[in-house]
Amino acid sequence: MAALLPRPGILEIDPYVPGKSWLAGGGRIIRLASNESALGPSPRAVAAFEQAAAELGRYPDGASTELRQAIGARFGLDPARIVCGSGSDELMGLLGRAFVGPGDEVLYSQYGFLMYPIVARSLGARSVTAPETELRADVDAMLGKVTAKTRLVFLANPNNPTGSYVPRDEVRRLRVGLPGDVLLVLDAAYAEYVTAEDYSPGVELVDAGDNVVMTRTFSKLFGLASLRIGWAYCPPGVADVLNRLRNPFNVTGPAQAAGAAAVEDVEFADKARAHNTLWLPWLADRLSALGLRVYPSIANFVLVRFPAGPGRDAEAANGFLNDKGIIVREVAGYGLPDCLRITVGLEEEMRAVVDALAEFVD
Ligand SMILES: *Cc1c(COP(=O)(O)O)cnc(C)c1O
Repeated sequence: MAALLPRPGILEIDPYVPGKSWLAGGGRIIRLASNESALGPSPRAVAAFEQAAAELGRYPDGASTELRQAIGARFGLDPARIVCGSGSDELMGLLGRAFVGPGDEVLYSQYGFLMYPIVARSLGARSVTAPETELRADVDAMLGKVTAKTRLVFLANPNNPTGSYVPRDEVRRLRVGLPGDVLLVLDAAYAEYVTAEDYSPGVELVDAGDNVVMTRTFSKLFGLASLRIGWAYCPPGVADVLNRLRNPFNVTGPAQAAGAAAVEDVEFADKARAHNTLWLPWLADRLSALGLRVYPSIANFVLVRFPAGPGRDAEAANGFLNDKGIIVREVAGYGLPDCLRITVGLEEEMRAVVDALAEFVD
């Protein structure tokens, strides 16, 4: 009997393991594992979502017209070159399907986001990683891994789980060094949090040619992770390709309504950014003061390294925090078994995690 088998590569996929969102035993839980916004969504987004309930029997606008117009108005971009998706994850998968085939190579940096190998393997392509320097993507190392089979390069900027970033000029150097027929995808999921002057999410690189795409999300600063809304800013040719490939109704009506309201609520977004600008360094400083190694981050989380040894390592720290109802992210799956990633939460959540870790290292 011939056995039913999926296409080559599929069974090599390590399924994405999301951050934990619950703990056995009940009680109050502090969730700092998934880089969700400390402040949640704008109340205007919630109101728009509730209002959309009246139209649940109708198909949504397949073109996400109002949402694209709202994004375009907010960020100064041509809505015709924006494509919305069910999270930026969907858009990355579609970009892969459009430009990558069996035997091709997808390149990203050593500690890059774990969706990238999933995209590559789902297409029967090989995922190729370039070593990082000090947990930061290294442009020369990435260019050194380019072969004739390279079709797509993913760069999360800032990166998850490291929090590090590649400055604007270095990203440009990466683009210039890549062959013209290789697509560069700049995954700027945390762009709205960034205050560093030498950072750019990459709009100018998208505008400069036909082979750079920037992806963004409503899951982080806009606090709408559950609604699954992402968007890509594309050269016209790539927008056309994505619009042919995507499902005709890939963003739900309530998601479109809430997303548009969220992006229009500039005041709330400013508040979310200001909260992060205050508590990100606070968290990093307090954890450093405990003797832990905290890697510099410009996003809404920090990566923390623990010493080796039973009862002192990252695994022990994770168990200790879980016992106190605090969930952070284990990152062994990223090849960082001695680290934990901690999201910036509310003030009381930040104080609770710092107090718990102070007790742990004591
Ligand atoms: C959270 C995150 C995303 C967002 O994914 P969505 O599918 O839009 O929720 C994308 N890239 C990186 C690096 C992330 O950390």
